[in-house]
Amino acid sequence: MGDIAVAWFRRDLRLADNPAWAAATSHAFAVPVVVLEPHLLAAAGPHRLRAYLSAVASLERSLQGIGASLRVAVGDAAEAIAGVAAELNALSVCVNADVTPYAARRDRRAADALGCPLDAHWGMLVHPPGAVLTRKGTLSQVFTPFWRRWQTLHLRPEAQARRGPATAAEVAMSLPEAMAALRRLGIDLPSGPTVTAEPTWSEASAATRVDKWLEEVDRYGEIRDDFGASGTSQLSASLHLGVLSPRSVVAAVGAATAGRQAFVRQLAWRDWYAHLTHRHPDIADAAIRAPYDRVAWRHGPSADRDFDAWTAGLTGYPIVDAAMRQLAATGELHNRLRMVAASFLVKDLLIDWRRGERWFRWLLADGDLAQNAGNWQWVAGTGPDAAPYFRIFNPVAQSRRHDPDGAHLRRWVPELARLGADIVHAPWEASPARLAGAGLRLGVDYPTPIIDHDHARQRTLAAYRSALGKAHDGRPRPSPA
Ligand SMILES: Cc1cc2nc3c(=O)[nH]c(=O)nc-3n(C[C@H](O)[C@H](O)[C@H](O)COP(=O)(O)OP(=O)(O)OC[C@H]3O[C@@H](n4cnc5c(N)ncnc54)[C@H](O)[C@@H]3O)c2cc1C
Repeated sequence: MGDIAVAWFRRDLRLADNPAWAAATSHAFAVPVVVLEPHLLAAAGPHRLRAYLSAVASLERSLQGIGASLRVAVGDAAEAIAGVAAELNALSVCVNADVTPYAARRDRRAADALGCPLDAHWGMLVHPPGAVLTRKGTLSQVFTPFWRRWQTLHLRPEAQARRGPATAAEVAMSLPEAMAALRRLGIDLPSGPTVTAEPTWSEASAATRVDKWLEEVDRYGEIRDDFGASGTSQLSASLHLGVLSPRSVVAAVGAATAGRQAFVRQLAWRDWYAHLTHRHPDIADAAIRAPYDRVAWRHGPSADRDFDAWTAGLTGYPIVDAAMRQLAATGELHNRLRMVAASFLVKDLLIDWRRGERWFRWLLADGDLAQNAGNWQWVAGTGPDAAPYFRIFNPVAQSRRHDPDGAHLRRWVPELARLGADIVHAPWEASPARLAGAGLRLGVDYPTPIIDHDHARQRTLAAYRSALGKAHDGRPRPSPA
């Protein structure tokens, strides 16, 4: 058939500004392929799985719109892609690279298995690993210098796909057939038309969301922390799935106002955590600052009970419980609530950040190893340029500051629906008469706090100081003479 390239879509489920797709379409025929890997799908929580399948279905429709057919394969990625490439006698397989250790292993295996080159590009970050370096040619361990350098770099030109009919080859397996095959393998897939027809995770809906966000972004700096208001872009899952190009978001937003600069800075954080993951592939398993791995986290039945209360949204702290219930129900969570809930697990319950990281990654629709582990290490104080270990969020103060009227709490913790704004943040401070008036029996309808915050704070400071060999004022303890 002539000059064929395979475009292997992974976490870049879009046609616009997609370097791998653009490279594949520079050949006479580009064959778009998705490999559904059973073990990866089994490891994604319900929200991310639904979002991913919806994005694949949207990609399939976009391709149909330009007269192309998506080939869907099920199985081991390296074997499947090598099989497709061999069958088509492809000249190359074009991909966008990823930073996770799994992706790196998979691509090494694929490159070994292929009889043609694996042509790797970068499409999931604004600037790829290795592009943002200090004068000494290293990755900065502090964000601000990274950000300064990041801003000076030019955006790569938008990746343009070749116009005209792009693909050849019959569809080996359609998406519904692939999903049926996965179900036969015992993968618990969401069913119904919403999975394959839901527009939420399409390239087109992400673009619409960006257009809407461009009308709001100037206020970002002022309202981004108010988790009750929707003052953020809600683009993270689209970026995670790759239905949206981060490069094109930066180009569209620009830097004309303080709000725009603050927003683009967050995309630089996203790049930074990806660069850190590229450099520290065990970011989800080990503290980047190794001494922090000596913290004596709580283990055993009482820690397990507390972990279960945290996951179930039954800690007795309304802001934490609202966050954990929203996360479980929707897979979405405002950044401030992620920080407060994560801080509560690590610094109030003294439970290993890795347990929380796994739980979040499982449930978040945008659950992403680099971003999630990087942020958990920030909260736990174990990463570079992280929150210092002695910075411990007070959940009640956070709640009062960022959701003053308590509307978000009442929405997700309906037991508290009749408590007024002055008391909903800390129901245990209400008088018995007040509680009775609101129809709330603490300890029956809603838990009393599972831990006293002030006591927990002292316990955590002691545990970190002991791990780091610090005296009580936070300074290093003099070594014995
Ligand atoms: C404990 C914890 C876990 C997190 N896990 C994830 C995760 O798995 N996946 C994920 O994408 N983000 C994660 N974040 C970062 C952040 O909370 C989300 O990116 C943000 O809430 C998404 O909402 P938004 O798109 O409206 O963000 P906006 O405020 O509109 O920000 C714009 C974009 O910038 C990026 N961004 C914003 N904040 C951060 C940040 N702190 N770190 C890195 N990038 C950021 C995101 O891509 C986001 O879409 C986590 C944060 C914490 C504290």
